Amino acid sequence: MSEIAADPSHPRYQSLLMRHRLEEAEKKGMLAGSALIAHGRGEAFDYLLGEQTIPSALVATRQALALLTSAKHPVISLNGNVVALAGKEVLQLANHLNCPVEINIFYRTPERMEALLNHLNGIKQQEGFEVEILGAEPDARIPGLEGPRAKCCSRGIFESDVILVPLEDGDRCEALVAMGKTVLVIDLNPLSRTARMASITIVDELTRVLTNMNEILDSEKPLQTTTNYSNEQIIQAAFDHIGAFLAS
Ligand code: ATP
Ligand code: MG
Repeated sequence: MSEIAADPSHPRYQSLLMRHRLEEAEKKGMLAGSALIAHGRGEAFDYLLGEQTIPSALVATRQALALLTSAKHPVISLNGNVVALAGKEVLQLANHLNCPVEINIFYRTPERMEALLNHLNGIKQQEGFEVEILGAEPDARIPGLEGPRAKCCSRGIFESDVILVPLEDGDRCEALVAMGKTVLVIDLNPLSRTARMASITIVDELTRVLTNMNEILDSEKPLQTTTNYSNEQIIQAAFDHIGAFLAS
């Protein structure tokens, strides 16, 4: 790691650390060509949010967790950026929730799948997590999607009732909602199709959300879902926050 990225007192430490994780993942063949562009778009929105968890995002995080803990078949869908940025945090969450994770990548090649599986299995072994890692042998399809990105596992995404899909693409988010699933997304861009299509949108940075979720599960049980929850209002609160920031 560069000297700056290794220094936690640097004001951009977190951001540099995330970039470093992506660089390392890129070297290992874990990422698609567009991964760094997607990250850059996220960084820009995070800047506008003040690189912090805003109150409405914490409300959404709690609601998402309550839905995951009360689900029959919860599952966490992983793409390359999620594995690269937060492989440990996401396996820790799955371990807590006792649910499987499924690698479900947009640009599927055997080499990328192997690199991602190796990375996750390494963390799993090191940390002693007991998590089922699905995705290597897809045997079902998400209706309404064409090509390899429709592939999924029947015991994972296909049969899930509540699905956490951090950094999902808008199309696939829509297709999962159309299957009748409760779709929980993490997306720093409140304008994206994903953010607007999802059942619950957490407008916050991936590693902060997962850290919050793990801390909440450690300290606050059992969680209750809010009955009058409005995803529209939560997204509006993110816009309001950005508007106030820009006006200040
Ligand atoms: P959509 O398909 O939903 O309309 P998009 O095509 O604009 O969105 P994608 O390239 O599919 O975007 O996915 C990247 C999304 O992930 C962006 O909206 C970006 O804000 C978000 N993102 C990237 N990195 C992070 C991160 N670390 N935490 C949270 N969100 C992130
Ligand atoms: Mg997209």
